[in-house]
Amino acid sequence: MAIATNLGFPRIGSQRELKRAVEKFWSGKIDEAELSSVCQELRAAHWKQQQAAGITQIPSNDFSLYDQVLDTAALVGAVPKRFEWAGGNVDLSTYFSMARGGKGGKSVTASTAGVAALEMTKWFDTNYHYLVPEFEAQQEFQLSSIKPVDEYCEAKALGIETRPVLLGPVSFLLLGKTWEEQIDPLSLLDRLLPVYFDVLAKLAAAGAAWVQIDEPCLVLDLTEAQQVAYQRAYNELVNNTGGMQILLATYFGSLKENLQTAVSLPVNTLHIDLVRAPEQLDAVLDLLPEETSLSLGVVDGRNIWKNDFEQSLALIEKAVNRIGADRILIGPSCSLLHSPVDLDKETDLDAEIKQWLAYAQQKLQEIDVLTRCVNQGRANVADELAENQAAMEARRSSPRVHRAEVKNRCATVTESMRQRQHSYVERHEVQAASLKLPLFPTTTIGSFPQTDEIRKARAAYKKGEIADEAYEEFLENCIADDIQYQEEVGLDVLVHGEAERNDMVEYFGEQLEGFIATKNGWVQSYGSRCVKPPIIFGDILRKGPMTVKWSKYAQSCTEKLMKGMLTGPVTILQWSFVRDDQPRSETCQQIALAIRDEVLDLEAAGIRIIQIDEPAVREGLPLRHSDWAAYLKWSVDCFRLASAGVKDETQIHTHMCYSEFNDIIEAIAALDADVISIETSRSNMELLEVFARFKYPNEIGPGVYDIHSPRVPTVEWMEQLLEKALDVLEPRQLWVNPDCGLKTRKWDEVKPSLKNMVDAAKVLRKKV
Ligand code: GLN
Ligand code: ZN
Repeated sequence: MAIATNLGFPRIGSQRELKRAVEKFWSGKIDEAELSSVCQELRAAHWKQQQAAGITQIPSNDFSLYDQVLDTAALVGAVPKRFEWAGGNVDLSTYFSMARGGKGGKSVTASTAGVAALEMTKWFDTNYHYLVPEFEAQQEFQLSSIKPVDEYCEAKALGIETRPVLLGPVSFLLLGKTWEEQIDPLSLLDRLLPVYFDVLAKLAAAGAAWVQIDEPCLVLDLTEAQQVAYQRAYNELVNNTGGMQILLATYFGSLKENLQTAVSLPVNTLHIDLVRAPEQLDAVLDLLPEETSLSLGVVDGRNIWKNDFEQSLALIEKAVNRIGADRILIGPSCSLLHSPVDLDKETDLDAEIKQWLAYAQQKLQEIDVLTRCVNQGRANVADELAENQAAMEARRSSPRVHRAEVKNRCATVTESMRQRQHSYVERHEVQAASLKLPLFPTTTIGSFPQTDEIRKARAAYKKGEIADEAYEEFLENCIADDIQYQEEVGLDVLVHGEAERNDMVEYFGEQLEGFIATKNGWVQSYGSRCVKPPIIFGDILRKGPMTVKWSKYAQSCTEKLMKGMLTGPVTILQWSFVRDDQPRSETCQQIALAIRDEVLDLEAAGIRIIQIDEPAVREGLPLRHSDWAAYLKWSVDCFRLASAGVKDETQIHTHMCYSEFNDIIEAIAALDADVISIETSRSNMELLEVFARFKYPNEIGPGVYDIHSPRVPTVEWMEQLLEKALDVLEPRQLWVNPDCGLKTRKWDEVKPSLKNMVDAAKVLRKKV
């Protein structure tokens, strides 16, 4: 008999109950007891849902108040000294201090100014962010939480037998960073393992028969030493499980050359991701030891598409034929953490498209059907299979998905469409003559503070409470005010302020065909923060200009240069749920063509500087280095396709947020944007060095105003950063701007800050 399993369920709740409860706790509106009762209810509901859906191996300890990596740090007592933790079990205030900053766990509502939170970074190539554990050379570990045991017992008390989930010791160490002294985190493995033995013993004593250990780092490029660490860790763990069986979960990619290591680990079940890497099945079946079971991750844990049963069954049946159903588990590719919760809550969604989708709740049912198909035969699930096939067929043949005009246009894209008329050096001359900007031109990244008034007006407009004309007038007034302020302060290149945009991707998604917005498709981004990415379901077509009206109006308010503001194709792709029936590169090219048309319309409307934001280029990098070149090629091509249609006189800007440029500088240069602005103020301009080393020829605006902080930077501070920049850049290259958009800041911080920024540029102009 094959077993239906799950690796993890979203914890936010179908109505984002967790977010609300945690935020209420932070603001002191509820106490710890009330918070924990909300959490308990959520966990109970999720376990029961999984049970009712027919899942037999149900995970526990997949819940988290903030983040599962932070939970692991708390579990093993990896609390950095600055939090002044006194030992014992990590209390809630220490826990939230590590997540959000603040003083020594004394009060979670205290200002976060005192002590820095753990750094946050992306969880592999998902849009989830985890807190990076910090280790020191003398790091000691000790069991400092009994959360896994508590949650196992909590489920058991409800009559539900679960498989507790732990982040594996090797991945945990590899995901962390060391402070001050550079040490190999894996050198801490011997000190860490005993804590895992402790928690395994406690789980076994509580009655757990299985434990799920996640080792997603097994799908990354590993050194030999790292592979050896895996051997060592699991050879020891296996003797300390208190008799529990281990399911070792790998996900987000193929094991590739780590397969030999993975199959040699003494575990009872190996989970593999067959959505990202279906091609690995044969090799795994060839090498899997006879006593090991295989968990087949066939249901996509990180996208919203209905599973194609025939495709999954082809993989499942192959595995069953080779090793027998008794050694097979069927589950999602990875934890369902990365899926929205429940499609049934999407009451307003376009009915045709809804048929093609599955959220976490529906994915459980898919796992159940696939498992029953193996165990009871196709005839017993004939209705479900037929229904699924009909949905797949409808999606494959829908004219809303496939548009000949879009496909034809993509087929006619030529290299020359990705080339500006002349090289940067020549363009620079033309632009200097026509734009007549001063040395060290000043500008901003696009958005101005999104005040309550703006949010309220937008919400009312979306609800139909204010008419089109009234809303337009409101936005025009915002633009006019922003422009007046920018003129007063003396900025050289103005922006319209982006008051009409809620989000830089959603705004374009709403206006492009082939996209659909959801009401409830929330997924956790980090902590209590959730995002609701638009869904790209079909070929992408621009119905008409998307931003021209606003930019044109803005330009009409001023004699100064107005910068048009667009989001780039790679970022739109990266921050959406992407269709799975064609390569990402093709979808990206379609978006690029839509943006290209918008760029040309802006140019035709008299906008002479156009910024195409691409903050997500770096984060789109594949997990394996061997895949980088192909990705960088098509993503750069897409940016160029979007931007290169303009005349030499039109200046193209791009913007990227905090990013490590070292290993992608060639690609950044290949974008051939006339100007790039980047986030550098917190790195003290260090990020610029790679541009200098590479002899990056085009213009650069290294951010001098840290927009993540309410602090008003002084003229001296910014001038000193600019001088640093001039150590490595030529004066003609240097622009003066903040790190990023100002939408999360308050006007009373922004106003003096930008004034100081303009003054810093003036001081510098006098000096050179
Ligand atoms: N133009 C956008 C803004 O100013 C850029 C945002 C971003 O880089 N994330 O808000
Ligand atoms: Zn930014």
